[in-house]
Amino acid sequence: MKTINRRKFLQTSAIAGAGLTLMPNLTFARNSSSNNKPVLLGGKKNTFGFSRWPVYDQTEEKALLDVLHSNKWGRLDGSVTAAFEEAYAKQIGVHHTLAVSSGTSALYTMLGILDVGPGDEVILPVYTFVASYNVVVLNYALPILIDTDPETFQIDADKIEPAITNQTKLIMPVHIGGSPADMDRILDIGRNHNLPIIEDACQAHLAEWKGKKVGSLGLGGAFSFQSTKNLNCAEGGAITSNDEGFIRKCYGFHNQGQGGTSTSYTTGEGTRGTNLRLTEFQANLLLAQMTRLAQQVKRRSENATYLTNLLNEIPGIIPAKLYKGTTNSAYHLYMFRYDKTKFQNLSRKRFIEALSAEGIPCSSGYGQMNSSAYVQGLAGNKHYLKIYGKKGMQEWLERIQCPQNDTLTGEESVWFTQTTLLGGRSDMEKIAEAVRRVQKYAKELKK
Ligand SMILES: *Cc1c(COP(=O)(O)O)cnc(C)c1O
Repeated sequence: MKTINRRKFLQTSAIAGAGLTLMPNLTFARNSSSNNKPVLLGGKKNTFGFSRWPVYDQTEEKALLDVLHSNKWGRLDGSVTAAFEEAYAKQIGVHHTLAVSSGTSALYTMLGILDVGPGDEVILPVYTFVASYNVVVLNYALPILIDTDPETFQIDADKIEPAITNQTKLIMPVHIGGSPADMDRILDIGRNHNLPIIEDACQAHLAEWKGKKVGSLGLGGAFSFQSTKNLNCAEGGAITSNDEGFIRKCYGFHNQGQGGTSTSYTTGEGTRGTNLRLTEFQANLLLAQMTRLAQQVKRRSENATYLTNLLNEIPGIIPAKLYKGTTNSAYHLYMFRYDKTKFQNLSRKRFIEALSAEGIPCSSGYGQMNSSAYVQGLAGNKHYLKIYGKKGMQEWLERIQCPQNDTLTGEESVWFTQTTLLGGRSDMEKIAEAVRRVQKYAKELKK
């Protein structure tokens, strides 16, 4: 007992504290309260053991204080950021990692090094967080938004090749929800057209494609450590790559165009740069959070698989499928389609209200980014009009129409968050039970 590893002990107690149970509740299905009314109709609210977020204890506290007292707070002062980079590269299975200030910075840096600029086109999915789009626009390039495969919620690989033109500079698949995009096909397309693949893996820490971690498959991978993400230091990001020259250039870009280390300031390669450095506080916080990562990934994955089996039994609930090459999903989101015709035509909005009232955090997720005022407004941006012409921008609006995504996001998509999947097995059973309850009382819930 005296030799118990303190870190391990703290981890274990943190899990217990989060209300997780390791034993499957086998009697649950039989003793279930399926005859109870939904909460919205006066039924009793269930209690869930979903995890708090962020998860931390004295390990993180010590990590932050250690940096504080070292008097070395920035990466140009100390060596913690470099230590994190080494550990993260090992975790992802790449030769090199560069820590940066955010996931957006990671993408922005890679696009900068690939010299994406005015007149260029970048191919990416429409179904993604707006940051993936923003980094293209920051470089005055055209974001070519690709429609969504409704079965998986990922970029529809069938639609990539027809979107390639002489202006295409790179392909940026996003592993949305933490599940890998159809990477064999996308890597093939990249090879056939001599286009680099930059993976937006901001939601996909430790997700795997055929046994390899995402972020190690293309020229470069981008990760986010923003507070909601599965690895968190408030704000932060990383670039992963096996290409040393590429990472060296990225280092320069993120450090005002200067290479070198904390002690030597030599001129880097390239002609542009900015400051996108991570701090030593964040790096040490990440090292502490990484002691929990693999275990959290495993738990989400086990719970998601279990939940999928339960939800597949319910007519009108269609969990997102994983592509064949997927050997692990990071399940940053649990995504599924809702078919209201199997719920007495209860609207998705009302379905989500009813589930939320049961105590299950859920939402309809991303909408139609291509139709948003924000994206549509680009067609009137004066710099874009100068570069691409009025006709060019009108044609762009036509090109980014995504009918499959319109149906998916307009009527069907529903998300649970990653903290839901850090609950216990019985929580997954209670989720399925709540969905059944809503289905049973769908007519009454319609008001
Ligand atoms: C979060 C996220 C980003 C941006 O990361 P930040 O760290 O918030 O800048 C980019 N792409 C996707 C898919 C994301 O989910």
